[in-house]
Order: sequence, then C-alpha cells, then structure tokens
Amino acid sequence: MSGKYLLAIDQGTSSSRSVIYNHAAEVAASAQQEFPQIYPRPGWVEHDPEAIWDSVTAVAQSAMQKVDAVAGDISAIGITNQRETTVVWDRESGECVYNAIVWQDRRTAAYCQSLIAEGLEPQVTDKTGLRLDPYFSATKIAWILDNVDGVRERAESGKLAFGTIDSFLLWRLTGGQVHATDATNASRTMLFNIHTQKWDEELLEIFSVPRALLPDVRDCAADFGTASHDCLGGDIPICGIAGDQQAALIGQAGFDYGMTKSTYGTGCFVIANTGDKALHSDNQLLTTIAMRIDGDVTYGLEGSVFVAGSAMQWLRDELRIIDSASASEAIASRTGVVEDVHVVPAFAGLGAPHWDPDARGAILGLTRGSGRDEIVTATLQSVAYQTRDLIDAMSDDGLRPKVIRVDGGMVANSWFLQFLADVLEIPVERPKNVESTVLGAAYLAGYRIGLVKSAGDLSTLWQRDEIFQPAMTTELRERLLHGWQDAVNRVRTVG
Ligand code: ADP
Repeated sequence: MSGKYLLAIDQGTSSSRSVIYNHAAEVAASAQQEFPQIYPRPGWVEHDPEAIWDSVTAVAQSAMQKVDAVAGDISAIGITNQRETTVVWDRESGECVYNAIVWQDRRTAAYCQSLIAEGLEPQVTDKTGLRLDPYFSATKIAWILDNVDGVRERAESGKLAFGTIDSFLLWRLTGGQVHATDATNASRTMLFNIHTQKWDEELLEIFSVPRALLPDVRDCAADFGTASHDCLGGDIPICGIAGDQQAALIGQAGFDYGMTKSTYGTGCFVIANTGDKALHSDNQLLTTIAMRIDGDVTYGLEGSVFVAGSAMQWLRDELRIIDSASASEAIASRTGVVEDVHVVPAFAGLGAPHWDPDARGAILGLTRGSGRDEIVTATLQSVAYQTRDLIDAMSDDGLRPKVIRVDGGMVANSWFLQFLADVLEIPVERPKNVESTVLGAAYLAGYRIGLVKSAGDLSTLWQRDEIFQPAMTTELRERLLHGWQDAVNRVRTVG
C-alpha cells in the first residue's frame, strides 16, 4: 500500500475536523473549522452545504500541510459525520436544491404527528427501529420535495440525489462518480429496513420519496471510490464511512456483544452492541445498525440525553457561576456528593427514556445553605443520573452492560466519571484517546486496506487510561436516585 498516513474526516454539527493518523493509529496532525448555523425560523436548523464542503476541504488540506503530506502519503480516507442531516442535489450540476436540513430541525413535527395519527408508527418502527420523529431524514426529504419549486418532478425523473452528509461529501470528493452511503447512516434515514438491509418500498411510499433519489448502501469498511485530484491534489481511496455515534463505538473497539460506549459532548449518546440481534426496545430507545463489516450486520441499542456538557456551558455562560467547564471538577471535589439539591437540565425537553419535549428545567431542593458549589455539583450529577435512566432502560430491554467506555469533552472530569460509576453501579473506562469518533473513521479505513487482519484486531489498539470502579454505598445511591426520580417527575408534562 502507498502512503504512511490515514486521513479521517469528522463532519460534525458545529465544526468539521480532520485528523491524520500514522499506521499505529497515533495522531500526526489535526485541523478544525467551525461553520455557520442557520436558524431561519424557530425550530428550524439549516447548514449551507457549500460551507460544509469548504470547511471539509480546508481542514483536510490544513492537516496534510501540517505534516507536509501530499496525496501519495495518504493510504486511505475514512469519513464520519453528523447523522440524519439531509441534502438534496442535482446530479448534473452538483448544486444543492436547498440548504442541508439539520437533525435538530423540527419543521416536520406536524407531518410526523399526522402519520402517527394514521396509525403508521408501529410499521415504521418495526422496519427501521426508529420513532416516527422529525429527527430522522425521511420527513426532511419529503419537506424539500414538497416545498422547493419543481424539485419533486426532478426527483422523480432521476435528476436529483439525496444524501446524508457522508454521501454528499463522498459525491463531492469523487467528483460526482460515487453516490453511496454506509449502512449506519442509511439506518438513520427512516427509509432503510434494518432487517433486510434494503431501502424499503413501503417506507418510500409512506414518506413519498422516489427510489431514484437514494444512494447505494455499502459496508462501513468498503470501496467508496477515490477522492479526485481536484480536492486533495491526488487520488486517494475512500475506504470507511460511519455515522458519528457508531464511529465512536468503533473507535472504542466496541465489537463484542454487550460492549457499550457513552459519549459526553454537548449531549450524551449511549450505544450498546447487541450483536446480530436487532433488540426491540419497549423503553423508548432506538434500535439501529451499529456497524456492518464484511457483510455482517451488528445492531445497537441507542439512547440519548440532550443536555450533558452543555449544562456546564449553561453554568458558565448563563448563570455565570463558573469560569470554565473544567472548573466544575475542583468545585465538585471540594463539595462532595450533593444529596438534597437536584438540577434537572431539561432545557429542550427530556430525551430517552422519557421523550417529553415540553418538559423544562428546574432546580429543586434548595435550602438557605445551598450555594454555587451545590448547584454546580448537582448539575454534574444530573448528567450521571440521566445516563442511569438510559442504562436502566437498556437493562429492561434485555441488555445490561458490564462496563461502559466513555469519551467526549466531559470525560476529562475524573470526579464526574467516579460519580458516574457510583450511580451506574458499573465500572467506567476512559481510553487514552478520547477522540473515539474520528478514530473510528480511521479504523474503518485502516481495516479496509489491510492494516489489521480482522475487526477484532482493532481491539488491540484500544488503550485504557483509567478505570473508575463503583464505590458508593447502596443506601446513598438509592437515596440519590429517589431524589432524582422525584425531581424528574416534578418537571414532566406527560406520563
Ligand atoms: P461536541 O463534540 O459536542 O462539541 P466535545 O466532545 O468537544 O463536544 O465536548 C465539549 C463539552 O464538554 C462542552 O459542552 C463542555 O462544557 C464539556 N466539558 C469540557 N471539559 C469539561 C470538564 N472538565 N468537566 C465538565 N465538562 C466539560
């Protein structure tokens, strides 16, 4: 194989990043660029696909320059991306017909409600593992087809292409040669049948999406074509694609049944590997494709919490009671576990397992002695309690993780991780490389080009930094969890 590096691209919701790894999976260089968020109306969130594209080429070129790499030094490219975000473009001109509609966008809420009222949700959930929610791509595609002039006819006559961000980048990188995606991204569109691994005709009919729009679905480690000379100065094979949360599971070497990762960035996303079984959730979690490698599908059970690290930003930017997110660790360490005060950071409703979009945040249990330190510590604790709610939902669905591997910006906070282990009653492992998402994209590309023999061998690259063992007494844990449940019940608007 030519080249001594792998190039991983992580196209995220607020920024694009690229990391160059050597063949021992060590970081050689990285670059990052933010791009604008567009909020045309309340509840609407868009990105300019051209701004995304420009940021991706800029960070890829910049990382390459930092190590003086030319295209010939890069063995392969791996891509990971914000999931569900929807782009439709013209196959001839390459121009997008509308901005990218971002996963957070709620404009199709009423449409989803009307489909639910028609009784269609059980069928959609059976096939896709998802809830009938605006979060996923299907109703966003339908919105573009129904609201942009002339687009439905052009879609039906095969002139247009749909893609999640991976697919859009792939099309651009290959100079319009390849219209494909991977199974993890496909599984978030709400058009892909996760059991048959095919675009589903009934779903296409329900959401009125023409088949001609859709990309070819491939394994996560596959031949996705070649990045053309125009983009990165030479031909580079593209060999790996996965949605960001699935890539994090791969970066955490979560290849075996039961392995679970929890990512603590702005929000918190937990995915548990459920092996070759698509576990149906009775507890409001999502069933998804965790990875598809060598044609073998691995399923995952997924739950998310909307507010995790962003609660620290709230303490810093709105309450202004800490100078930086990292200051929370020293405060919590000297304060110790707070029993009576509970912060419920339901700023944007409650996610799984409550799914209560109208719930709002609260601070409960204040006494005359409660001050800044208690509120900061209780806010950190709330992220652990919310994770516990997800893990309990997973256990009720039949999967109780033995260990949780964590990553994301918040895991720099060791006090938080110890409290997390205490509340979960499960050991929590922090890896040396906490940038699991982008690492997962590199792993996939490296696997495809034969740097490692089996996906399992990637496990040998994973290195633990620290393990946090549960140490809290049962009495204290139960008191805390009771208090948390009471607090959640006070803010809930449903159930
Ligand atoms: P994203 O990828 O979602 O932008 P990151 O993985 O970069 O997020 O993590 C950033 C988040 O982590 C921020 O919301 C920040 O408040 C939080 N964070 C960073 N360091 C700490 C810390 N030491 N303790 C608690 N939270 C932290």
